[in-house]
Amino acid sequence: MLGLMQSQPLLISNLIEFADKHHTDTEIVSRRVEGDIHRYTWSDVARRSRQVAHALDGMQLAFSDRVATLAWNGYRHLELYFGVSGSGRVLHTLNPRLHPDQVVWIANHAEDQVLCFDMSFLPLVQAVHARCTTIRHYVALCDADKLPADSGIPNLISYEAWMGKQPSHYTWPTFDENSASSMCYTSGTTGNPKAALYSHRSTTLHAYAAALPDVMGLSARDSVLPVVPMFHVNAWGIPYSAALTGCKLVFPGPALDGKSIYELMEAEKVNFAAGVPTVWQMLLGHMKPAGLKFSTLKRTVIGGSACPPAMIHAFQEDYGVEVLHAWGMTEMSPLGTLCTLKNKHLALPKEEQMAIRLKQGRCIYGVDMKIVGDDGQEQPHDGKAYGDLLVKGPWVVREYFKGEGGNPLTADGWFPTGDVATIDPDGFMQITDRSKDVIKSGGEWISSIEIENIAMAHPAVLMAACVGMPHPKWDERPIVAVVKRPGVEVSRDELVKFYDGKTAKWQIPDDVVFVDAIPLGATGKMLKTRLREQLKDYKLPTV
Ligand code: AMP
Repeated sequence: MLGLMQSQPLLISNLIEFADKHHTDTEIVSRRVEGDIHRYTWSDVARRSRQVAHALDGMQLAFSDRVATLAWNGYRHLELYFGVSGSGRVLHTLNPRLHPDQVVWIANHAEDQVLCFDMSFLPLVQAVHARCTTIRHYVALCDADKLPADSGIPNLISYEAWMGKQPSHYTWPTFDENSASSMCYTSGTTGNPKAALYSHRSTTLHAYAAALPDVMGLSARDSVLPVVPMFHVNAWGIPYSAALTGCKLVFPGPALDGKSIYELMEAEKVNFAAGVPTVWQMLLGHMKPAGLKFSTLKRTVIGGSACPPAMIHAFQEDYGVEVLHAWGMTEMSPLGTLCTLKNKHLALPKEEQMAIRLKQGRCIYGVDMKIVGDDGQEQPHDGKAYGDLLVKGPWVVREYFKGEGGNPLTADGWFPTGDVATIDPDGFMQITDRSKDVIKSGGEWISSIEIENIAMAHPAVLMAACVGMPHPKWDERPIVAVVKRPGVEVSRDELVKFYDGKTAKWQIPDDVVFVDAIPLGATGKMLKTRLREQLKDYKLPTV
């Protein structure tokens, strides 16, 4: 017997119509590429998304055609999120930090029909357009009078001229909620990037889950600043969860330096922010020497790579901001776990709470996970046994776009994340490494993240990356590459000594190598493959 409730497909257009109706006058504030601050409301986002939908219809785009963006976090990008997907097309957020050749490869692979881009990326579009074989229309996200006369880009039009004159009423189409809504290519550190193709259903379910109290806990009372880019994994789903909860959104545009972010947070009374550790490092680096404090910020989600303990500590102890450590991946829309304490943890001493906060957190309802050993056997949840982390759920990929790479799932339907983790009896998962970065020493595994976290707690260390080096007896031994804080000195021996008592003796790195910078990929993660290449002539000390 089927239930007798109404069957309404979960569509992204419902989210924006809801925000229009119930959060009509809540503000969306954006720092624009032009440098000024733009403000309007959810009602304006909805109206202009409908105009975008009309404009796409006018281009004769078919259902599921891809519309690409190269854009910062801003109001026009938000309108495209809803207008493109809501009208049945697929929003393809391109990562502007990728090498131009990769942008070309990805745009061609996705068969993008339209490319909408912020003016900061005009030189990139000029460099790639001749090789993007499927793009028929180029739209510059600017006013008509800002359009360059001689860009060399065929049929270039301004966004405002394109959508601004369209009717503000639009009947959003109704279709299968499993239809594709947006796509994002993985970082592709090995081989060609592959695309996760999200659906209206997966995006809506993820938006509900992300807003839950023990996840991001978003509400109509919040002022939310997503520093995490809308060009990578939909800014962790915040644009959708924001429409669902009616929170105020504050977009930083291209200005991601500490000073600009701090000023925007203060001016717009931001109480919730989300970003990767490198961005928060810039923010804290700006605030500390100037003796600045937050007047409204209360919580921040940090994820994308492991959040160093020193950062969690600084946010909490120096600034009174709760850090919510989160883990996920492109293939998971992206949220998988978030670290919020349980009631029983609240009475624990601060150091014990800190040890929990360092973990990547508990499963969000909708995601299931397990860890398995080399033999595929499930490992116990004792916080010690580690294994390959497998996940499943309604917002986890089943297959990549165009079937690239074949079936990614295990025989029993789990998605292997490529991460190695432990899970404790309370269900808190802790990533110890990417499986390819784990250091295998004398038959034991050393977590590169743990080694990095210890180095990062030293006041002279700005950034640290631990990699394994071949060793004749132990297979591999860890060394740590360190970027020093400007103006602060520290010696190799001092840093090696700093590990005493902080980790098992055999896990202490054999050496510290000082470098000017740690190579970062297009999504801000450390590129250890490149670091290893840079260190190819390095020899371990022979002691
Ligand atoms: P991406 O698909 O580019 O978002 O990268 C996903 C990968 O980033 C994961 O598989 C992890 O290896 C890493 N990652 C994301 N969040 C965290 C975190 N909080 N701690 C450690 N690694 C993380």
